[in-house]
Amino acid sequence: FRGQVTLDGPSGTGKSSVARAAAARLGAAYLDTGAMYRAATVAVLDAGVDPEDAEAVAAVVAGARIEVGTAADVELVRVDGVDVAVRIRGAEVTRAVSAVSAVPAVRRQLVDQQRALVEAADAVVVEGRDIGTVVLPGATCKIYLTAAPEARAQRRAAQLGVRDVAEIAAIAADLRRRDTYDSSRADSPLRPAADAVVVDSTALDRDQVVDRVVELAHESL
Ligand code: C5P
Repeated sequence: FRGQVTLDGPSGTGKSSVARAAAARLGAAYLDTGAMYRAATVAVLDAGVDPEDAEAVAAVVAGARIEVGTAADVELVRVDGVDVAVRIRGAEVTRAVSAVSAVPAVRRQLVDQQRALVEAADAVVVEGRDIGTVVLPGATCKIYLTAAPEARAQRRAAQLGVRDVAEIAAIAADLRRRDTYDSSRADSPLRPAADAVVVDSTALDRDQVVDRVVELAHESL
């Protein structure tokens, strides 16, 4: 397979694990753009800057060295040489990432970096929110992954090992909050590209979604 697959959609759709598995099956590189916004958020938090202070956030991120790997089987995320792969998944970063990623200068910087990483690969699966619409509008295979909010909250809870009903409700509330925040941003709407195929994963297991993505990738060539 030689092409670009974009995989966009809200959080909790199983997007990351689908994107990774699809990249491995296609023998393609893999880019997790959410990890880049999360890494930028680590830099902001460590600088002691308010994530809502757009100017200060832009300055910190401009001075940070954000590195992500593009191999499907290893997770490499560094900020100024420090491994933050575990930290970027924590609650502190998850709470602040929407504000950081809403800063236009941050988006410009990371989108440039994303395009450079993609250019270096023969084949790639890129996951995010705005990949098919903004980052790679010319991609041949665009997929938008959706799922019912309840299914997304259940999936997140399972990933985190959470069983408590109140905690699951809190996860659902956080998903809704991030969706609203991400979709209210003028420059990067959370919506499918006009030429994207929408895949609803509510009633599918992960392998079925991966099969569909691999099939769509091959059909796009
Ligand atoms: O996909 P993940 O949940 O790791 O993304 C974390 C956050 O990064 C999202 O909630 C969104 O605010 C932001 N993001 C973005 N554009 C992308 C990928 C992620 O704004 N392409």
